[in-house]
Amino acid sequence: MNDMIDYTKRTSYLGDLEKQRSAHKLVFEGSFNPGLPERGYNNRTLYINLSTRTIKEKPVTEQMKEIFIGGRGFGLWYLWNAVKPTTKWNDPENEIIISPGPLGGNTQYPGSGKSLVVSLSPLTDIPIDSNVGGHFGPLMKFSGFDALEIQGKAESDVVIFIDGQKGIIRVEEAPLESVDSHIAADIFTHMYAADEFDRRNISVIASGKGADHALMGCLNFSWYDIRRGVARLKQAGRGGIGTVFRDKKVKAVVVRGPTVKGDMNRPADIDRVRNTGIRLHREIHDNDDKQCHMRTQGTAHLVEVMSDYDLLPVCNFQYGSHEDVKNIASYTWGERFTQGIPDGCWLGCSMGCSKGADGHIVKTGPYKGHSVTVDGPEYETAAGLGSNCGIFDRDWILEGNFYCDTYGIDTISFGTSCSFVMECWQRGILNAERTGGIELTWGNGAAQMELLHQMARNEGFGAIVGQGVARMKKLFAEKGWGDPKLLADIGMEAKGLEYSQYLSKESLAQQGGYALTNKGPQHDEAWLIFMDMVNNQLPTFEDKAEALHYFPMFRTWFGLNGLCKLPWNDVEPEDNRKANSPMEAAKVPSHLQNYCDLFSGITGREMNRDELVFMSERVYNFQRVFNLRMGKGLRKFDQAPYRSTGPVTREEYESRAERYDKQLKEQIGVDPSGKSVDEKIALHRKWREDRYQKLCDAVYKRRGWTKDAVPTLETLKKLGIDFPEVVDVVKKFL
Ligand code: SF4
Repeated sequence: MNDMIDYTKRTSYLGDLEKQRSAHKLVFEGSFNPGLPERGYNNRTLYINLSTRTIKEKPVTEQMKEIFIGGRGFGLWYLWNAVKPTTKWNDPENEIIISPGPLGGNTQYPGSGKSLVVSLSPLTDIPIDSNVGGHFGPLMKFSGFDALEIQGKAESDVVIFIDGQKGIIRVEEAPLESVDSHIAADIFTHMYAADEFDRRNISVIASGKGADHALMGCLNFSWYDIRRGVARLKQAGRGGIGTVFRDKKVKAVVVRGPTVKGDMNRPADIDRVRNTGIRLHREIHDNDDKQCHMRTQGTAHLVEVMSDYDLLPVCNFQYGSHEDVKNIASYTWGERFTQGIPDGCWLGCSMGCSKGADGHIVKTGPYKGHSVTVDGPEYETAAGLGSNCGIFDRDWILEGNFYCDTYGIDTISFGTSCSFVMECWQRGILNAERTGGIELTWGNGAAQMELLHQMARNEGFGAIVGQGVARMKKLFAEKGWGDPKLLADIGMEAKGLEYSQYLSKESLAQQGGYALTNKGPQHDEAWLIFMDMVNNQLPTFEDKAEALHYFPMFRTWFGLNGLCKLPWNDVEPEDNRKANSPMEAAKVPSHLQNYCDLFSGITGREMNRDELVFMSERVYNFQRVFNLRMGKGLRKFDQAPYRSTGPVTREEYESRAERYDKQLKEQIGVDPSGKSVDEKIALHRKWREDRYQKLCDAVYKRRGWTKDAVPTLETLKKLGIDFPEVVDVVKKFL
């Protein structure tokens, strides 16, 4: 199919550019001295308040660098200082903080261009952090800032333009441009670039019409793809930050940085950084085709692997595999993605997994008939919009991916919300009268799209779906639609955030990996299914607790430093499994050493593997205290919907009856013969829920928390985060 696609041919949106530009009006402006970081830091943050029309620089202190490092850490610290315990997501004092971290923007080590975005989430009412590619964070950093804090609300739609070449910040009223991201990113790239060459120095953050109304709005971060001649998009997807962005009436944030060169972090030891990068580039070159195929299939390479292991969510996490998975398997995406051009979401990422499907002809909605480049799908999107909704059609998945991105909607939350209402339809909880005529049958791609278009128009049943699973469960129960207990069991959310796309029923550690997270069930804290379920490397509660201590702490570190997790373990040295014990191999020790070398090489601060985890532990515990301060964070908020823990329905039980019967006999000590399916489900439930509570006890103990999930004063002291205001919060719960 690729041979037939001319990837330079796509619908153009630039015809009205001059008219749109001339409609801009300056609201307020400021100036700064552009500068490059020294050893990864600029030592200043850009603060913009849209209500008070204030622009100022804030110092980044040595204490901030020591304790919070950067990225997610800086975001949490600034947010903590900006909000009160009573602040809601749509209060003006809520902030959006964007920070790339001290290692962000280096072009030597693959996966070093991430921005971390932090805000109070509309879905969860607690801090959310999201890790996103695209060039914004590095270009902002090379303009002179370690973070951008946006507070307040504008009176009408504005564009914030940070010109890192001239040292000017302008906030402009921008009444005419579309808010939809595929257009906004392209238009603003052309509008603010001095010439064709300069487009590569521009990155745009935009959201979309969907985020104007739905609570699951995402942000798109762009980079200009010079080969395709189009602005590409990566998403800060989780938790509704796009909704906060649009509530602040921001249409776009645009940065124009200097042209990137290899030494712009001005590292302490460039040779150490370079040599560390060369080692990984070699591994990717030699091993990717044998291991994960990230360079040709992106994360979509996981689709059939998950189905083979009964881990692919099918029909709202009821089942783990499906015979039609072949229609959306990795090789089908390999065919559909445009090959042979670099697809890194930051310069120097030789893993290049940010695949694009060019030439998608849109078949529904306002862009029907347009030819577009779809960024993705990633695995989560293929599973969330696809298998989990019973949709095994590549074109519908691309259609949904395109509209979610351009409307500014998180594909994961939307996929899980859509699968929830489809199951409600299956069980008669919803019908055509209740959905306004949308037939939410499994596999109905057109119905899924209609929900999305309604969400963007803020009308009909789609507007309800846009509020997310937690609010739908409450609403349906209030209306008397379905048994509230069943709704609680099958509505796949925790803390208000929708589950990402892995089946966790057979992995107790992953049940914790999801529900014990700080921000809500997202796999970027811990992905333990293979270690736990497939390889049986975590047999005891203590083993699982150790993994649920180490991996979330370790993975937090990527978010402090502007790094992508994928190059850590989606490729590994050929001898990794032979040279190390299974637990050690899972950590990929040679890559851990790379990260220590990279950090020390850039910042000049020597560190080792233990310190790496210690750094993350500080920020992770601080985030838990932040949750407590906002009224969540206790054990009761770490509980999971039963669908993530075990079989809810008879059909689910019967689909794996042999396995479940065996577990009854061998692990629960009950002879299943003669028992009804309902009796067996009840026995399983008791056993599984009890195990989950034991897991919570073990994890809290390992993390130095009380039985109610509160970090103890000793833990805070050990971590050096026993600031008076932190201690005050914790004391209320001890
Ligand atoms: S591995 Fe993929 S997502 Fe990560 S930085 Fe590279 S291209 Fe971007």
